[in-house]
Amino acid sequence: MQYSLEGAAQPVAPGPQHLVGLLRRVAFAVLLLDLVVIALLLAPGVVPNGWRQTLRLLDAGLMLALALIVLLLLRRLGRLLAERKQVEVQQQMLFDAMPVGLVVWSADDRLQVTNADFRRLYAPLQDLLVPGAPFKDLMQALVRRGLVPEAQGREEAWVEERLAQHRDPGPPMLRRMADGRWRRIVEQRLADGRVLGHSIDITDMQQARADAERARQLLRGAVDALPAAFELYDADDRLVLHNEALRQTYPDIAAHLDRGLTFAELARLNIASGGHPDAVADPEAWIAVRQRQRSRPGPAAAVDLPAPDGRRLRLYEHRLADGSLVAIRVDVTELEQARAAEARATERLQDAIEALPAGFELYDADDRMVLVNSTMKRMYPAVAHLLDQGRSFAELVRANWELGSLVVPDGEIEGWIRDRLAQRRAGGPPRVHQLRSGLWVRTYERRTREGGLVGVRIDVTELVQRDRELAQVVAELDLANAELRRQAETDPLTGVGNRRRFERELAAAGESGRPVALLLFDIDYFKRFNDHHGHPAGDACLRRVAAVLTASLRGPGDLAARIGGEEFTVLLPGEGAEGACAVAQRCAELLADAGITHGDSPLGPHVTFSIGVAVDGGRAAAASLIERADAALYEAKRRGRARWQLHAAQ
Ligand code: GH3
Ligand code: MG
Ligand code: MG
Repeated sequence: MQYSLEGAAQPVAPGPQHLVGLLRRVAFAVLLLDLVVIALLLAPGVVPNGWRQTLRLLDAGLMLALALIVLLLLRRLGRLLAERKQVEVQQQMLFDAMPVGLVVWSADDRLQVTNADFRRLYAPLQDLLVPGAPFKDLMQALVRRGLVPEAQGREEAWVEERLAQHRDPGPPMLRRMADGRWRRIVEQRLADGRVLGHSIDITDMQQARADAERARQLLRGAVDALPAAFELYDADDRLVLHNEALRQTYPDIAAHLDRGLTFAELARLNIASGGHPDAVADPEAWIAVRQRQRSRPGPAAAVDLPAPDGRRLRLYEHRLADGSLVAIRVDVTELEQARAAEARATERLQDAIEALPAGFELYDADDRMVLVNSTMKRMYPAVAHLLDQGRSFAELVRANWELGSLVVPDGEIEGWIRDRLAQRRAGGPPRVHQLRSGLWVRTYERRTREGGLVGVRIDVTELVQRDRELAQVVAELDLANAELRRQAETDPLTGVGNRRRFERELAAAGESGRPVALLLFDIDYFKRFNDHHGHPAGDACLRRVAAVLTASLRGPGDLAARIGGEEFTVLLPGEGAEGACAVAQRCAELLADAGITHGDSPLGPHVTFSIGVAVDGGRAAAASLIERADAALYEAKRRGRARWQLHAAQ
């Protein structure tokens, strides 16, 4: 394309120029006419004398007209010049207003026109930027003043090269200017041989380009630092970016990764070099499947692939909105091994839990079931179908309740569940409870470290039954023991307590620290009774006396006992002297009421007895109490029998 500045140099208004041409032609005509008149005047004898005066007048008139026309012409010319100047100023303003450095060089390489941006750009050369300045001089001045960094050390050569370039303009040049900014300089030869130069500031663009390059480097660095293999394919499925990890994963095709090959081309190379052990059987079918997987927009389902070195890779691919595809390959060998080991361990644990003779349940921190064994399901057959992972404890309890397998006081299930959950959280001792099936279960509940809960339920039905049987046997034994003891402490003849029982209860009363009263009885003239009525009658008499004493007792704490042949006692725990004497008196009255015939008593027709009474304020030795009662009895005998006597010291 050729440029021309002619248009810009043309006068703005053609009207006045036309007028000037007309005036010029009229002036020429008037001048010619005047010359003819002058010639006629000068030629002798051509014009008659009478006409000469007229011709002189005509000459003067023509001269005047000519002067007038010249005057008009001069005025018009002055106006034209002013207009031309104005156009030039306007042109220069336009030129200067452009944000581009503009310069026009003449065909012989001299400076003609510059604009403001150009002059600002070459401000250090201001003194030289005058029309007519040779291009070469300006270039030399530039390098001399150190304004062309790239020319340092080879100034002359640079100037020559630049001059050659100027004379035969080529492609645009990219230059860093003295002010540090970047310019794109274009030189074009115009149709008239002149050279138009223009330069545009592209610093921002350069900056953006540099930023983009830096960002690209950064991205490349980041991608290379990834522990996972990374690939980026463009919309045509060509590999445009990858990282070190990918090269290491597929070392045999590493050299091809930078060649901009498509996925299919790379896949074929990779399969051929053993990079995809799983694709060897039918490479094209494998590629077709993979391409289908890759064609869908958005993230594709992760694919597991074997790597050439035998490791396992998990491939994540994502087709982006612009058609490009990002792929990441993560080495999951260890992860899979760990998962397999974990699965094996879990299996073993499950087998062990399954083999437990106890019901086992494991809940997570939200009280949702994680694990349960079949013993548990057998224990709770009604809800066995619900005992699976994810089921909440509350849900199971509610189902159990709805099926009638759980009875809740007041039927208030929600409150019961709340209490039960709180109880589970708090832990506590094992509970034993009976299920609807009749089974007895002991439940152990423990919190796990993760906040979950392990429950173990043991069938203790047999134990409970055995416990109950044992309790029954123990009760029976207790009864038998009590009977044995009763028998061992009972006087076989009279049925009241014997000496052993008396001594035990006397000792116990003494240890209690409370007061105790003792009544000691001896039948009067009993030898004679025997002698008179016979021994069997004597035994019968003894039984009746025992009955009298038993009748005198005030409550189960009192004791009547036979401690010798015809000697009896009544023990009154907690009793003082007054009460004891009252009981002694009552015994005598009851005996009198009984009216047992004594056929040989000096005291009367009925059997009587003498009573010694002794009391103790507490903690007295049993022997001393008996001694004092005995002394009182002796005193009663001495004083004539058939009476009671309180020990003198009372
Ligand atoms: P006293 O008024 O001084 O007590 O005179 P007593 O005859 O009762 O004398 P004592 O108390 O010494 O007599 C005890 C008699 O009790 C002697 C014995 O024949 C009689 N006796 C002891 N044990 C039994 C018994 O088990 N059955 C019968 N029938 N008599 C017994
Ligand atoms: Mg006696
Ligand atoms: Mg006696």
